[in-house]
Amino acid sequence: MPIKSGSTTISLTGTGTDHAAADGPIDMGFKSNRQPVGKFQGIEVWGPYDAPGQLGIWGTDVCVDFDICISDGACIDACPVNVYEWLDTPGHPASEKKPFMIREKDCIFCLACENVCPPQAIKIFVK
Ligand code: SF4
Repeated sequence: MPIKSGSTTISLTGTGTDHAAADGPIDMGFKSNRQPVGKFQGIEVWGPYDAPGQLGIWGTDVCVDFDICISDGACIDACPVNVYEWLDTPGHPASEKKPFMIREKDCIFCLACENVCPPQAIKIFVK
């Protein structure tokens, strides 16, 4: 049975060290193709999830595939409303920090972050 989202709290530590970085772009259909596995500080996380080497896709409206993200940082610089902050992800094969969408609710859907991401790891669901 897949773990349903809700009360499950995601941990960034674990035994998942045998993973490779994924190629972009993010799967636009991931909400149909993946299952929510829990939340991290209130933000939805979509599996497969096997920390620290496989972190899945994070977010509901502002979504980043952490397995593709190379921590370029252009998204953080581009965002006019400071949605993101760096989250340390030691042991991840693509990059050891990720743009955490902690202020996802502040997004104004300008798409700036999506447009500047080099590996196309970001998908914004415009509301
Ligand atoms: S779409 Fe715009 S406002 Fe929303 S997270 Fe990206 S850069 Fe920030």
